[in-house]
Amino acid sequence: MRVLDASAFIKEYNTTGRTATVPRVREELTAESGYRFDALEGSGMHVHVPDATAIEHVERTARDTGDLDELSETDVRLLAATLELDGTLVTDDYAMQNVAEKLSIGIDSIDQEGITEERDWEFQCVGCGRVYDDDPERCPICGSECTRKRP
Ligand SMILES: [Zn+2]
Repeated sequence: MRVLDASAFIKEYNTTGRTATVPRVREELTAESGYRFDALEGSGMHVHVPDATAIEHVERTARDTGDLDELSETDVRLLAATLELDGTLVTDDYAMQNVAEKLSIGIDSIDQEGITEERDWEFQCVGCGRVYDDDPERCPICGSECTRKRP
């Protein structure tokens, strides 16, 4: 069971296997990608509403990994749904992939490079805005925290 995030619809991710998603994803889609959602739902995609226990579990894990602030309500529900359905999460979102890894959820990326390959994200200081390739934890210039971002 592949659980699809919004970008899977936008980027026309293709799979012949069973698919699922959460209702909120539909709200994030434009007309064209929304049509793709409706077509997939029409052909059997499972639109899953995760229960509160799974959502709480995901939120707790995301808080531990420091990714909670970067996850939308939809992201949290996608992770919770994947957990409940014992599926594979299809997403290119780094924060979701990171939390999924922690939850032992399988990940499939839409673009071909998966999380197992070289991670090429950047770290930006919340204080002065300087960007670093490696996580300095604290900015060596101003001492503020650094957060991950996609280059
Ligand atoms: Zn700084």
